[in-house]
Amino acid sequence: MGGRAQMGKRIAEIGFNPGGGVINWFPGHMAAATRAIRDRLRLADLVIEVRDARIPLSSANEDLQSLLSCKRRIIALNKKDMANPNIMHRWVQHFESCKQDCLSMNAHLKSSVSQLLALVELKLKEVISREPTLLVMVVGVPNVGKSSLINSIHQIANSRFPVQEKIKCATVGPLPGVTQDIAGYKIANRPSIYVLDTPGVLVPSIPDIETGLKLALTGAVKDSVVGEERIAQYLLAILNSRRTPLHWDRLGNERMRTAPEFDGRNKNIFADSIPKRRRQLNVSDSDALYIEDLVREVQRTLYLTFKDFEGNLEEEGELESLIDAQLTALRKSFRIPSHRACDEARTMVSKKLLTLFRTGKLGPFILDNLPNSS
Ligand code: GDP
Repeated sequence: MGGRAQMGKRIAEIGFNPGGGVINWFPGHMAAATRAIRDRLRLADLVIEVRDARIPLSSANEDLQSLLSCKRRIIALNKKDMANPNIMHRWVQHFESCKQDCLSMNAHLKSSVSQLLALVELKLKEVISREPTLLVMVVGVPNVGKSSLINSIHQIANSRFPVQEKIKCATVGPLPGVTQDIAGYKIANRPSIYVLDTPGVLVPSIPDIETGLKLALTGAVKDSVVGEERIAQYLLAILNSRRTPLHWDRLGNERMRTAPEFDGRNKNIFADSIPKRRRQLNVSDSDALYIEDLVREVQRTLYLTFKDFEGNLEEEGELESLIDAQLTALRKSFRIPSHRACDEARTMVSKKLLTLFRTGKLGPFILDNLPNSS
Protein backbone atom coordinates (compact mmCIF):
# COMPACT_ATOMS: atom_id res chain seq x y z
CA MET A 1 0.00 0.00 0.00
CA GLY A 2 3.01 2.25 0.44
CA GLY A 3 3.04 2.90 -3.29
CA ARG A 4 -0.63 3.67 -3.29
CA ALA A 5 -0.27 6.10 -0.40
CA GLN A 6 2.58 7.77 -2.24
CA MET A 7 0.41 8.01 -5.32
CA GLY A 8 -2.38 9.50 -3.23
CA LYS A 9 -0.09 12.16 -1.90
CA ARG A 10 1.08 12.97 -5.37
CA ILE A 11 -2.35 13.22 -6.95
CA ALA A 12 -3.45 15.48 -4.15
CA GLU A 13 -0.78 17.95 -5.14
CA ILE A 14 -1.55 18.08 -8.82
CA GLY A 15 -2.21 21.60 -10.01
CA PHE A 16 -2.97 22.54 -6.50
CA ASN A 17 -2.88 26.05 -5.22
CA PRO A 18 -0.54 27.32 -7.90
CA GLY A 19 -0.01 30.66 -6.21
CA GLY A 20 1.27 28.99 -3.04
CA GLY A 21 -0.56 30.52 -0.12
CA VAL A 22 -1.97 28.90 2.96
CA ILE A 23 -5.49 27.51 2.94
CA ASN A 24 -7.71 28.53 5.76
CA TRP A 25 -9.65 25.32 6.18
CA PHE A 26 -11.90 26.38 9.04
CA PRO A 27 -13.42 29.44 10.59
CA GLY A 28 -11.91 30.24 13.97
CA HIS A 29 -15.10 29.70 15.94
CA MET A 30 -14.86 25.96 15.33
CA ALA A 31 -11.80 25.73 17.58
CA ALA A 32 -13.75 27.39 20.37
CA ALA A 33 -16.52 24.84 19.84
CA THR A 34 -13.99 22.04 20.42
CA ARG A 35 -13.27 23.41 23.90
CA ALA A 36 -16.99 23.39 24.71
CA ILE A 37 -17.27 19.80 23.49
CA ARG A 38 -14.45 18.72 25.78
CA ASP A 39 -16.53 19.90 28.73
CA ARG A 40 -19.71 18.25 27.49
CA LEU A 41 -17.91 15.01 26.79
CA ARG A 42 -17.19 14.66 30.49
CA LEU A 43 -20.94 14.29 31.07
CA ALA A 44 -21.28 11.43 28.61
CA ASP A 45 -21.20 7.80 29.75
CA LEU A 46 -20.80 6.68 26.16
CA VAL A 47 -19.87 8.48 22.96
CA ILE A 48 -21.02 7.56 19.48
CA GLU A 49 -18.34 8.95 17.20
CA VAL A 50 -19.86 9.19 13.75
CA ARG A 51 -17.43 8.98 10.85
CA ASP A 52 -17.94 8.83 7.12
CA ALA A 53 -17.55 5.20 6.00
CA ARG A 54 -15.84 6.46 2.83
CA ILE A 55 -13.05 8.02 4.91
CA PRO A 56 -12.90 6.06 8.19
CA LEU A 57 -9.61 7.70 9.24
CA SER A 58 -9.74 11.08 7.55
CA SER A 59 -13.10 11.91 9.16
CA ALA A 60 -11.66 11.73 12.67
CA ASN A 61 -10.62 14.63 14.87
CA GLU A 62 -7.09 13.95 16.08
CA ASP A 63 -7.09 16.46 18.95
CA LEU A 64 -9.89 14.68 20.76
CA GLN A 65 -8.83 11.10 19.99
CA SER A 66 -6.97 10.63 23.27
CA LEU A 67 -10.00 11.87 25.21
CA LEU A 68 -12.44 9.82 23.11
CA SER A 69 -10.44 6.62 23.31
CA CYS A 70 -10.52 6.83 27.13
CA LYS A 71 -14.30 6.85 27.10
CA ARG A 72 -16.75 4.13 26.23
CA ARG A 73 -16.95 4.76 22.53
CA ILE A 74 -18.58 3.25 19.47
CA ILE A 75 -17.29 4.34 16.09
CA ALA A 76 -20.26 4.46 13.70
CA LEU A 77 -19.05 4.31 10.09
CA ASN A 78 -22.05 6.02 8.56
CA LYS A 79 -23.15 6.23 4.91
CA LYS A 80 -22.12 2.64 4.37
CA ASP A 81 -24.47 2.60 1.38
CA MET A 82 -21.92 4.83 -0.38
CA ALA A 83 -18.84 2.88 0.71
CA ASN A 84 -17.37 -0.07 -1.15
CA PRO A 85 -19.02 -3.13 0.49
CA ASN A 86 -16.12 -5.39 -0.55
CA ILE A 87 -13.74 -3.53 1.74
CA MET A 88 -16.06 -2.23 4.45
CA HIS A 89 -15.83 -5.36 6.61
CA ARG A 90 -12.04 -5.07 6.64
CA TRP A 91 -12.34 -1.62 8.14
CA VAL A 92 -14.67 -2.90 10.85
CA GLN A 93 -12.17 -5.70 11.52
CA HIS A 94 -9.37 -3.14 11.65
CA PHE A 95 -11.08 -1.15 14.41
CA GLU A 96 -12.06 -4.29 16.27
CA SER A 97 -8.47 -5.50 16.15
CA CYS A 98 -7.58 -2.24 17.94
CA LYS A 99 -10.18 -3.15 20.62
CA GLN A 100 -12.46 -0.42 19.38
CA ASP A 101 -16.18 -1.10 19.00
CA CYS A 102 -17.23 -0.23 15.49
CA LEU A 103 -20.29 -0.59 13.31
CA SER A 104 -20.91 0.28 9.70
CA MET A 105 -24.34 1.80 9.27
CA ASN A 106 -26.87 3.91 7.40
CA ALA A 107 -28.43 6.65 9.52
CA HIS A 108 -31.55 6.68 7.36
CA LEU A 109 -32.38 3.03 8.03
CA LYS A 110 -34.27 2.19 11.19
CA SER A 111 -32.87 -1.34 11.25
CA SER A 112 -29.32 0.00 11.10
CA VAL A 113 -29.90 2.56 13.86
CA SER A 114 -31.63 -0.06 16.04
CA GLN A 115 -28.55 -2.24 15.69
CA LEU A 116 -26.41 0.66 16.88
CA LEU A 117 -28.72 1.27 19.85
CA ALA A 118 -28.57 -2.42 20.78
CA LEU A 119 -24.78 -2.14 20.93
CA VAL A 120 -25.07 1.06 23.02
CA GLU A 121 -27.32 -0.72 25.52
CA LEU A 122 -25.07 -3.74 25.65
CA LYS A 123 -21.97 -1.65 26.26
CA LEU A 124 -23.63 0.39 28.99
CA LYS A 125 -25.64 -2.24 30.77
CA GLU A 126 -22.77 -4.67 31.10
CA VAL A 127 -20.87 -2.15 33.19
CA ILE A 128 -23.36 0.17 34.83
CA SER A 129 -26.62 -0.99 36.32
CA ARG A 130 -27.00 1.23 39.37
CA GLU A 131 -26.78 4.70 37.87
CA PRO A 132 -30.28 6.15 37.50
CA THR A 133 -29.50 7.94 34.26
CA LEU A 134 -26.89 7.34 31.61
CA LEU A 135 -26.06 9.80 28.86
CA VAL A 136 -24.98 9.09 25.33
CA MET A 137 -23.49 11.81 23.17
CA VAL A 138 -23.17 11.84 19.39
CA VAL A 139 -20.09 13.57 18.00
CA GLY A 140 -18.40 13.87 14.62
CA VAL A 141 -17.05 16.22 11.99
CA PRO A 142 -19.54 18.12 9.78
CA ASN A 143 -21.75 16.27 7.29
CA VAL A 144 -21.10 12.72 8.50
CA GLY A 145 -24.78 12.26 9.38
CA LYS A 146 -25.01 13.16 13.08
CA SER A 147 -28.35 14.98 12.75
CA SER A 148 -29.79 12.23 10.56
CA LEU A 149 -28.75 9.69 13.19
CA ILE A 150 -30.22 11.71 16.05
CA ASN A 151 -33.43 12.12 14.05
CA SER A 152 -33.73 8.38 13.57
CA ILE A 153 -32.94 7.82 17.26
CA HIS A 154 -35.69 10.31 18.14
CA GLN A 155 -38.22 8.29 16.13
CA ILE A 156 -37.16 5.00 17.68
CA ALA A 157 -37.20 6.57 21.16
CA ASN A 158 -40.74 7.85 20.60
CA SER A 159 -41.95 4.43 19.55
CA ARG A 160 -40.32 2.81 22.60
CA PHE A 161 -41.33 5.46 25.14
CA PRO A 162 -44.24 7.52 23.80
CA VAL A 163 -44.16 9.82 26.82
CA GLN A 164 -40.61 11.11 26.93
CA GLU A 165 -39.38 12.25 30.35
CA LYS A 166 -37.10 15.21 30.94
CA ILE A 167 -33.57 14.45 32.07
CA LYS A 168 -31.73 16.32 34.73
CA CYS A 169 -28.04 16.22 35.16
CA ALA A 170 -25.41 17.65 37.48
CA THR A 171 -23.36 19.69 35.09
CA VAL A 172 -19.74 20.62 35.22
CA GLY A 173 -18.98 24.31 34.97
CA PRO A 174 -18.81 27.31 37.25
CA LEU A 175 -21.26 25.87 39.75
CA PRO A 176 -20.45 22.19 40.18
CA GLY A 177 -23.24 19.99 41.35
CA VAL A 178 -25.94 22.34 40.13
CA THR A 179 -28.63 20.39 38.36
CA GLN A 180 -29.65 21.46 34.88
CA ASP A 181 -32.13 20.22 32.35
CA ILE A 182 -30.56 18.62 29.35
CA ALA A 183 -32.59 17.62 26.32
CA GLY A 184 -32.34 14.05 25.19
CA TYR A 185 -34.28 11.04 23.99
CA LYS A 186 -34.86 8.05 26.21
CA ILE A 187 -33.95 4.81 24.49
CA ALA A 188 -33.85 2.30 27.37
CA ASN A 189 -34.96 1.59 30.94
CA ARG A 190 -33.17 0.28 34.03
CA PRO A 191 -30.96 2.12 33.89
CA SER A 192 -32.49 4.89 31.83
CA ILE A 193 -30.36 5.65 28.80
CA TYR A 194 -30.72 8.99 27.05
CA VAL A 195 -29.16 10.16 23.82
CA LEU A 196 -28.49 13.90 23.94
CA ASP A 197 -30.37 15.68 21.19
CA THR A 198 -27.54 18.04 20.18
CA PRO A 199 -24.51 16.51 18.54
CA GLY A 200 -20.97 17.66 19.20
CA VAL A 201 -19.48 19.10 16.02
CA LEU A 202 -15.79 18.26 15.80
CA VAL A 203 -13.24 20.15 13.74
CA PRO A 204 -11.72 17.80 11.17
CA SER A 205 -7.97 17.34 11.38
CA ILE A 206 -6.11 18.23 8.21
CA PRO A 207 -2.49 17.12 8.47
CA ASP A 208 -2.03 17.27 4.70
CA ILE A 209 -3.73 18.42 1.51
CA GLU A 210 -4.84 14.92 0.57
CA THR A 211 -6.89 14.61 3.78
CA GLY A 212 -8.36 18.05 3.16
CA LEU A 213 -9.40 17.05 -0.34
CA LYS A 214 -11.00 13.82 0.87
CA LEU A 215 -12.96 15.82 3.43
CA ALA A 216 -13.99 18.30 0.75
CA LEU A 217 -15.00 15.51 -1.61
CA THR A 218 -17.25 13.96 1.04
CA GLY A 219 -18.64 17.32 2.12
CA ALA A 220 -17.05 17.85 5.55
CA VAL A 221 -15.20 20.90 4.25
CA LYS A 222 -17.04 23.54 2.26
CA ASP A 223 -16.45 23.49 -1.51
CA SER A 224 -15.51 27.16 -1.51
CA VAL A 225 -12.43 26.48 0.63
CA VAL A 226 -10.53 24.76 -2.19
CA GLY A 227 -12.95 25.28 -5.09
CA GLU A 228 -15.09 22.77 -6.99
CA GLU A 229 -12.68 22.40 -9.86
CA ARG A 230 -9.81 21.41 -7.59
CA ILE A 231 -12.01 18.83 -5.83
CA ALA A 232 -13.24 17.44 -9.17
CA GLN A 233 -9.63 17.18 -10.40
CA TYR A 234 -8.79 15.22 -7.28
CA LEU A 235 -11.78 12.93 -7.84
CA LEU A 236 -10.68 12.29 -11.44
CA ALA A 237 -7.12 11.65 -10.29
CA ILE A 238 -8.41 8.99 -7.89
CA LEU A 239 -10.65 7.39 -10.51
CA ASN A 240 -7.87 7.29 -13.09
CA SER A 241 -5.15 6.05 -10.78
CA ARG A 242 -7.47 3.27 -9.57
CA ARG A 243 -8.35 2.53 -13.21
CA THR A 244 -12.01 2.78 -12.32
CA PRO A 245 -13.12 3.63 -15.90
CA LEU A 246 -11.89 0.17 -17.01
CA HIS A 247 -13.87 -1.36 -14.17
CA TRP A 248 -17.01 0.46 -15.37
CA ASP A 249 -16.46 -1.01 -18.80
CA ARG A 250 -16.05 -4.55 -17.42
CA LEU A 251 -19.07 -4.11 -15.18
CA GLY A 252 -21.13 -2.92 -18.12
CA ASN A 253 -20.05 -5.81 -20.31
CA GLU A 254 -21.02 -8.18 -17.53
CA ARG A 255 -24.41 -6.51 -17.24
CA MET A 256 -24.94 -6.78 -20.97
CA ARG A 257 -24.01 -10.48 -21.03
CA THR A 258 -26.48 -11.33 -18.30
CA ALA A 259 -29.27 -9.09 -19.56
CA PRO A 260 -32.08 -11.16 -21.12
CA GLU A 261 -32.25 -9.01 -24.26
CA PHE A 262 -28.52 -9.38 -24.98
CA ASP A 263 -27.92 -10.95 -28.37
CA GLY A 264 -24.16 -11.42 -28.09
CA ARG A 265 -23.20 -8.87 -30.71
CA ASN A 266 -23.32 -5.64 -28.83
CA LYS A 267 -20.72 -5.89 -26.10
CA ASN A 268 -20.37 -2.29 -25.04
CA ILE A 269 -22.01 -1.06 -21.86
CA PHE A 270 -22.22 2.31 -23.37
CA ALA A 271 -24.26 1.19 -26.31
CA ASP A 272 -27.13 3.41 -27.35
CA SER A 273 -29.66 0.60 -27.16
CA ILE A 274 -29.89 0.75 -23.39
CA PRO A 275 -33.47 1.46 -22.37
CA LYS A 276 -34.20 4.86 -20.97
CA ARG A 277 -35.00 4.90 -17.29
CA ARG A 278 -37.77 6.95 -15.77
CA ARG A 279 -36.12 8.94 -13.01
CA GLN A 280 -35.17 12.39 -14.12
CA LEU A 281 -32.49 14.82 -13.13
CA ASN A 282 -32.98 18.44 -13.98
CA VAL A 283 -29.67 19.40 -15.46
CA SER A 284 -30.93 22.82 -16.41
CA ASP A 285 -34.31 24.39 -16.92
CA SER A 286 -34.37 23.56 -20.58
CA ASP A 287 -32.56 20.25 -20.59
CA ALA A 288 -33.70 17.34 -18.47
CA LEU A 289 -31.71 14.15 -18.72
CA TYR A 290 -32.49 10.75 -17.43
CA ILE A 291 -30.08 10.18 -14.58
CA GLU A 292 -29.07 6.64 -15.40
CA ASP A 293 -28.37 7.69 -18.95
CA LEU A 294 -26.40 10.67 -17.75
CA VAL A 295 -24.31 8.49 -15.43
CA ARG A 296 -23.68 6.05 -18.24
CA GLU A 297 -22.64 8.84 -20.54
CA VAL A 298 -20.28 10.34 -17.99
CA GLN A 299 -18.75 6.92 -17.36
CA ARG A 300 -18.44 6.36 -21.09
CA THR A 301 -16.67 9.69 -21.58
CA LEU A 302 -14.26 8.93 -18.76
CA TYR A 303 -13.69 5.42 -20.11
CA LEU A 304 -13.01 6.58 -23.66
CA THR A 305 -10.63 9.35 -22.61
CA PHE A 306 -8.87 6.90 -20.30
CA LYS A 307 -8.62 4.24 -23.00
CA ASP A 308 -7.24 6.71 -25.56
CA PHE A 309 -4.71 8.11 -23.14
CA GLU A 310 -1.23 7.14 -24.21
CA GLY A 311 0.73 8.87 -21.48
CA ASN A 312 2.05 7.52 -18.22
CA LEU A 313 -0.36 7.75 -15.29
CA GLU A 314 2.58 7.77 -12.91
CA GLU A 315 3.79 11.03 -14.42
CA GLU A 316 2.17 13.95 -12.68
CA GLY A 317 2.09 16.21 -15.74
CA GLU A 318 0.62 13.49 -17.96
CA LEU A 319 -2.07 12.51 -15.50
CA GLU A 320 -2.89 16.19 -15.22
CA SER A 321 -3.33 16.47 -18.99
CA LEU A 322 -5.65 13.43 -18.98
CA ILE A 323 -7.75 15.07 -16.27
CA ASP A 324 -7.79 18.27 -18.28
CA ALA A 325 -9.01 16.40 -21.36
CA GLN A 326 -11.69 14.67 -19.28
CA LEU A 327 -13.01 17.92 -17.84
CA THR A 328 -13.26 19.28 -21.37
CA ALA A 329 -14.91 16.14 -22.76
CA LEU A 330 -17.45 16.11 -19.93
CA ARG A 331 -18.86 19.46 -21.10
CA LYS A 332 -20.71 17.58 -23.80
CA SER A 333 -21.91 14.81 -21.47
CA PHE A 334 -23.33 17.41 -19.11
CA ARG A 335 -24.82 19.44 -21.98
CA ILE A 336 -22.97 22.60 -21.04
CA PRO A 337 -23.84 25.15 -23.72
CA SER A 338 -20.85 25.89 -25.94
CA HIS A 339 -21.16 29.65 -25.56
CA ARG A 340 -20.10 29.41 -21.91
CA ALA A 341 -16.69 30.78 -21.08
CA CYS A 342 -14.11 28.07 -20.49
CA ASP A 343 -13.63 28.75 -16.77
CA GLU A 344 -17.32 28.92 -16.14
CA ALA A 345 -17.93 25.68 -18.07
CA ARG A 346 -15.23 23.86 -16.09
CA THR A 347 -16.81 24.96 -12.83
CA MET A 348 -20.21 23.74 -14.04
CA VAL A 349 -18.76 20.39 -15.11
CA SER A 350 -16.95 20.07 -11.79
CA LYS A 351 -20.09 20.79 -9.77
CA LYS A 352 -22.13 18.24 -11.70
CA LEU A 353 -19.45 15.58 -11.44
CA LEU A 354 -19.20 16.15 -7.69
CA THR A 355 -22.97 15.85 -7.37
CA LEU A 356 -22.90 12.47 -9.12
CA PHE A 357 -20.12 11.25 -6.84
CA ARG A 358 -21.73 12.59 -3.67
CA THR A 359 -25.08 11.00 -4.43
CA GLY A 360 -23.34 7.66 -4.95
CA LYS A 361 -24.21 7.51 -8.66
CA LEU A 362 -20.62 6.84 -9.71
CA GLY A 363 -20.54 3.83 -7.40
CA PRO A 364 -19.38 3.07 -3.86
CA PHE A 365 -15.87 4.10 -2.80
CA ILE A 366 -13.60 4.05 0.21
CA LEU A 367 -10.97 6.74 -0.20
CA ASP A 368 -8.73 5.98 2.79
CA ASN A 369 -6.23 3.15 2.70
CA LEU A 370 -6.34 0.48 5.39
CA PRO A 371 -3.39 0.94 7.76
CA ASN A 372 -0.67 -1.70 7.46
CA SER A 373 -2.16 -3.32 4.41
CA SER A 374 0.25 -4.27 1.70
P1 GDP B 1 -24.28 16.30 10.14
O1 GDP B 1 -23.69 17.57 9.63
O2 GDP B 1 -23.20 15.38 10.66
O3 GDP B 1 -25.37 16.50 11.15
O4 GDP B 1 -24.89 15.53 8.88
P2 GDP B 1 -26.43 15.42 8.41
O5 GDP B 1 -27.20 14.51 9.30
O6 GDP B 1 -26.96 16.79 8.19
O7 GDP B 1 -26.21 14.67 7.01
C1 GDP B 1 -25.46 15.24 5.95
C2 GDP B 1 -25.98 14.67 4.64
O8 GDP B 1 -25.71 13.28 4.57
C3 GDP B 1 -27.49 14.82 4.47
O9 GDP B 1 -27.75 15.08 3.12
C4 GDP B 1 -28.03 13.44 4.86
O10 GDP B 1 -29.25 13.15 4.23
C5 GDP B 1 -26.92 12.55 4.35
N1 GDP B 1 -26.82 11.27 5.10
C6 GDP B 1 -26.79 11.09 6.43
N2 GDP B 1 -26.67 9.78 6.73
C7 GDP B 1 -26.60 9.11 5.55
C8 GDP B 1 -26.43 7.73 5.19
O11 GDP B 1 -26.28 6.82 6.01
N3 GDP B 1 -26.40 7.46 3.85
C9 GDP B 1 -26.52 8.43 2.89
N4 GDP B 1 -26.46 8.06 1.62
N5 GDP B 1 -26.67 9.73 3.20
C10 GDP B 1 -26.70 10.07 4.50
